[in-house]
This record gives sequence, C-alpha cells and structure tokens, in this order.
Amino acid sequence: MDFDDTPEEAAYRAKVRDYIAAHRGELMSVSEGGRRAVDLDAAKQHQSLMYDGGLVGVTWPKEYGGQGGTQMQQAIVNQEVAKAGLAGFIGVIGLGMCGPTVIAHGSDDQKSRYLGRLLRGEDVWCQLFSEPASGSDLAALRTKAVKTDSGSWRVNGQKVWTTLAHVSDYGILLARTDPDVAKHRGLTMFVVDMHAPGVTVRPLRQMSGVAEFNEVFFDDVEIPDEERLGEVGDGWRVALTTLMSERLSLGGGGTDVGTGLDAAAAHVAKRIGELPETRQALVRQEFGRQYAASLATRYTGYRQLSAISKGAMPGPEASAGKLAGTKTGRALADLGVRLLGDEAVYAITAEGDGRWQNSQAGLPGMAIAGGTDEILRNVLGERVLGLPPEPRADKGMSFNDSLRIGASE
Ligand SMILES: Cc1cc2nc3c(=O)[nH]c(=O)nc-3n(C[C@H](O)[C@H](O)[C@H](O)COP(=O)(O)OP(=O)(O)OC[C@H]3O[C@@H](n4cnc5c(N)ncnc54)[C@H](O)[C@@H]3O)c2cc1C
Repeated sequence: MDFDDTPEEAAYRAKVRDYIAAHRGELMSVSEGGRRAVDLDAAKQHQSLMYDGGLVGVTWPKEYGGQGGTQMQQAIVNQEVAKAGLAGFIGVIGLGMCGPTVIAHGSDDQKSRYLGRLLRGEDVWCQLFSEPASGSDLAALRTKAVKTDSGSWRVNGQKVWTTLAHVSDYGILLARTDPDVAKHRGLTMFVVDMHAPGVTVRPLRQMSGVAEFNEVFFDDVEIPDEERLGEVGDGWRVALTTLMSERLSLGGGGTDVGTGLDAAAAHVAKRIGELPETRQALVRQEFGRQYAASLATRYTGYRQLSAISKGAMPGPEASAGKLAGTKTGRALADLGVRLLGDEAVYAITAEGDGRWQNSQAGLPGMAIAGGTDEILRNVLGERVLGLPPEPRADKGMSFNDSLRIGASE
C-alpha cells in the first residue's frame, strides 16, 4: 500500500478538514460525547451536521442517501474525526451494523422508511443479538418468535448487553422461529420497534460509570411480518452480514483503538519530565514498545483497506486487527492513567476531559464486544492457521436436542 494520499485522496482530505474546521464550534467533542449522560438531542444534531457535510454513510450507496464513496474515503474521515477530537456518532450501531443489514436484506419499503432517518441521526438503532446464555455461541439463542394466526410474529425472551437500547427507536432482532432444526438453521431476523408494547429496557451500569448498554425484555411483542429481514429460517445468513459489517467497523481498518497515538505521544511528552529520571527511561521503553505495536496494527489495517478498496471482503484475518489493536490500546490507556499520577483519582477534571480514565475503563469491554479475544484467537487458529477445530458437542443436532443434552447451556 502507498501510505501517501493520492492527489484525489489529498483533495478529499482537505475537503473533510475544511468542513470540520468550519463547523468545529457546533460539533461535539470526544469529552462531550463521553459524558455520563449524553445529551441525546445534541448527539443527534452532531450526526446530522456531519451528514450535511457528506461525512456520514460515506460508503453507503447514493440511492439510500449515502455518499457512494470508497473505504479509503471512510478511513480518511475516521482519521480526520480522530485528529479533530470529535465524538463518535449516536448512530454508531445503526450505521456500522443495522443499516448495512437492511441494505443487504431489507425490502424496498423498509429501505425507504428506515435508511434516510438512520443516516441523519433522526432514529437511533441497536443490535439485539446476545442473550444471558448465548454470546460467543450466538446461534444458541432462545428468544422465540412464533407466527400468529394473523400472520404477524409474537416475540418472547431476553437480550442483554444491547448497546444504546435505552435511546433506540429500532433494533435488529435475531430470534428462534424453529427449535426443531439445527441451531443455525432455525433463526429469523426482524426489525423491531423499540417503543412497541411489551418491550422493556433496563440500563446496566459499567465500570466506567456510564450506562450505555442494557437488558431488553420482550413480553408478547407483536412484530408485523413486513418487518422480517430476509427469509424465515435464514436469520443466521442475515446475521453474518451484520457481523461482517461489525468486523469492518471494529476491525482496525487503519484507525487507532483508544485515545489515538498522537494524543498518547503528546501526553507522554508533556508528563515525562515530572518523573524521576530512573522512571523516565522505563516509561520511554514502555511507550516505545506500545507505539511500535500500534503502528504495526495500523499498517496491518491499511493492508486490509487496500484489499477492500480492490473489491475483497474482510476475511477472518481481520480478527487480528481487533485483537492486537485492543491490546495495545489498553496498554497505552494504562500508561496514560499512570502518568496522571494522583490526578487520575480526580477523574474527569484531570487533563480536562478524563479521556485516559475513560479509555482504561472502557477498553476491556472492547476485548469482549464483537467477539471476545479468546473467540478471535479460535478464529485465527482454525480459519487462518488451519489448526484442528474445537470439538462441537451439538454438531448435527436440532436445537431442542442440544438443550436436552446440555450442549447449548
Ligand atoms: C461494550 C460491549 C458492547 C456490546 N454490545 C452489544 C450489542 O449492542 N448487541 C449485542 O447483541 N451484544 C452486545 N455485546 C455482547 C457481546 O457480543 C458478548 O458479550 C460477547 O459476544 C461475549 O458473550 P458473553 O458475554 O455471553 O460471554 P460468553 O460467551 O459466555 O464467554 C465467557 C468467557 O468464556 C470464553 N469463551 C466462550 N466460548 C469460548 C470458546 N469456544 N473458546 C474459548 N473461550 C471461550 C469467552 O472468551 C469469555 O472469556 C456487547 C458487549 C460489550 C462488552
């Protein structure tokens, strides 16, 4: 990959920078976006303003309100947003996962009703996959959708760790519609109205102090058949679209995980002089090690981007980017907090925005979300290195039979 921008990319980068600079005062910063209670209206306004500048839905097709741009342009936007210290989008789950799933599997009616509002930040979306007894083994989920006489679906069950469910208008819901076939084959995907009767959302507080994910309960929730995404029983294939998009949005792609390398370098440069000389050498070594590891992750992400820009889809090797990026991001956040010394205790006031503490408390979650470190190692071992697969006790069994022998417990 050529690391310098082509003339077209440089022109695009300049356009992005100019727009951000011109609207800097109206856009939300990382610290405002990371507050304990995000101002929902302000977060929506932030996304809407970025949309007006063509900086949201960069790779989405034009016919659905996107920019029809390249992954490279998306990477440029990500880099410039990070450099400017801007907050992420309230539509992060919708833009990264739900929207691409609706584009790939939704009806024309669903696309016209949902995608434009999602892009502009008018509706917030969530992804209702994980359950108390199925996270890594997602296909073992138990939330049931049963067809009623009127042709609609009645849903009962519980989801958990649902990011942004407490502010969401819609979600994509993976549910079991047939327990008598193998677990991957009895699933169906739906769009669910999060304000429908029978949907209860309970926030869960994280160790960072924020409560951005939730438990969601479904009690006799009615979903019209028109809100099915894809065919009945084809939910696993539909979910793979979501997970593939998630891999792309979490998998590195050349952006740093955590607070960003430039910010880390500036922080070390500012603070190191306050330490005794003997400790300075240790900090330099630790920072150098993590800096080099982060650059390796960044460039591996660029290699992936090059492949994508030539039309390839991210394969299982993309798991390496998230695995390595999370590890170095966590190490840099730890170093950042240690450099704050006692000030770190005064949390949000330290360095003005508490970004080091937030990263340190938030990144362990990144090592779980979208595939835990252990699962990603399994993927790399089995599908990239060709090592023997793990034993699967429920292989070839119906979901109900696997419950009976306890293979999906
Ligand atoms: C910040 C955050 C946001 C999230 N947002 C969402 C969301 O919006 N929507 C959603 O649906 N879910 C969401 N999740 C849930 C996430 O997808 C699950 O937490 C994840 O898939 C792991 O599932 P689990 O928590 O049930 O852990 P389990 O699958 O029960 O795993 C427990 C432990 O066992 C290990 N383990 C499990 N199976 C294996 C194996 N085969 N080999 C080796 N080790 C194994 C795991 O690595 C882990 O350490 C989020 C999670 C986090 C942390």
